[in-house]
Amino acid sequence: ATASTTKPPLYKVVMLGDSGVGKTSLVARLTNPNAPLNHDISATMGIEFDTQMLDTPHGKVKAQIWDTAGQERFARVLLPTYFRKAKGVILVYDVTSAKSFDSLGERWMAQLHDHANSDELAKLLVGNKCDLEDSREVTKEKAEMFCNEHGMEHLETSAKSGANVLKAFERLITIRARRR
Ligand code: GDP
Ligand code: MG
Repeated sequence: ATASTTKPPLYKVVMLGDSGVGKTSLVARLTNPNAPLNHDISATMGIEFDTQMLDTPHGKVKAQIWDTAGQERFARVLLPTYFRKAKGVILVYDVTSAKSFDSLGERWMAQLHDHANSDELAKLLVGNKCDLEDSREVTKEKAEMFCNEHGMEHLETSAKSGANVLKAFERLITIRARRR
């Protein structure tokens, strides 16, 4: 078989973060860049995933992006399935919500540690809703300090404008590629 008929590798990505930070909107923006931001997205129930081909400097990959509600009652039993075979995780907070940022350290990092092989996963911290500068509660400096402590990279995105959305997913794949 020639290279062109080779199937691109599957890359499972999991989205983590509080309800309302914009996880579902980020995935929707990635998979359908021209759609308007949906303000009535219902809280994601259970687990669902979308796939998107990404053309990265490291070749084409088929990203399989898992998204869930930030609701603990669903997450608990589903967590092992959620993290199984994941290659990367996007930890999302909302730059206009200090509470969503605090949850990273109080909750989401612990879940990663308990349910995933945290050392093998590529991790990216994403501060979403960067279009809402006037309502900002989390500075870039604060987020970057957190990243340094946990060996992660950081990007600010807007699912509304599309800023850095594709870049975030491509960055994650690049982080993973560097490890191989
Ligand atoms: P999830 O619970 O983490 O999946 O969050 P959603 O994707 O459902 O988004 C929660 C709310 O935030 C929705 O009303 C979205 O329209 C809104 N939202 C998501 N991303 C952005 C963004 O980048 N900017 C703005 N202004 N609103 C956003
Ligand atoms: Mg959602």
